[in-house]
Amino acid sequence: MPTATVTEITIDPVPAFRDNYLWLLSRAGRAAIVDPGDAALVFAALAARSLTLDSILVTHHHADHTGGVAELARATGAAIFTPAGESIMTGGAPTRALREGDAIDVLGERLQVLDVPGHTAGHIAYHAPTLRALFCGDTLFAGGCGRLFEGTPAQMLASLRKLAALPADTRVYCAHEYTLSNLRFALAVEPGNLRLQQRSERCSEMRARQMPTVPSTLAEECETNPFLRVTEPQVREAAERHTSGARISDESVFAALRAWKNVFA
Ligand code: ZN
Ligand code: FE
Repeated sequence: MPTATVTEITIDPVPAFRDNYLWLLSRAGRAAIVDPGDAALVFAALAARSLTLDSILVTHHHADHTGGVAELARATGAAIFTPAGESIMTGGAPTRALREGDAIDVLGERLQVLDVPGHTAGHIAYHAPTLRALFCGDTLFAGGCGRLFEGTPAQMLASLRKLAALPADTRVYCAHEYTLSNLRFALAVEPGNLRLQQRSERCSEMRARQMPTVPSTLAEECETNPFLRVTEPQVREAAERHTSGARISDESVFAALRAWKNVFA
């Protein structure tokens, strides 16, 4: 008797620009793309794999995440999912505006929406519990976090903590390959963190072979990403040393780290 075949979802990076990853999900000839900053690269990736685009998912309004949306939508008629708090250029194509608590069906998988303001005011993330996958745009990066263009340190810290509270084996599909520069900063903050030293060596080897260091896992991030470690004594002390002020709240430790990273060479 024939058994039903369950096809797994494949998740591939489509490298774009200098250091972006557009994430291509596919299963049984259908595809979804997260943060398509460049339409031509997505068309090429679809053609190479003989895929039809079903869905376009957007985490926030920046051009490197949205530049290809209108053209892809026009050519494919794919459904477009966008943050409710941001206006995304779709060339007139309708979108489904999402906020925390919403859930969508993508390629037969349920994705849950989380509000994660900080990098931008309306930034959202997509969590697929059954895939153990998180698409978090420019909020949480491998070894770091996004810049605060439209949010406060308190907002970003709360957003990062929300993501860090997801299951530890969740893979973190962030939108940029910033890992080595993030880990250099992390080592300046926590030079004695053995896990961090090991991660830095491993990621350096991967980059030397042009391999993506993304996705990481939330477990790795919690052990090595200073922006998720503001309550660790060594992280607090480093933030205090760097700003020569008494840091009391977690938010002020986070703010000091983010300001330090902004000018870290
Ligand atoms: Zn961005
Ligand atoms: Fe970006």
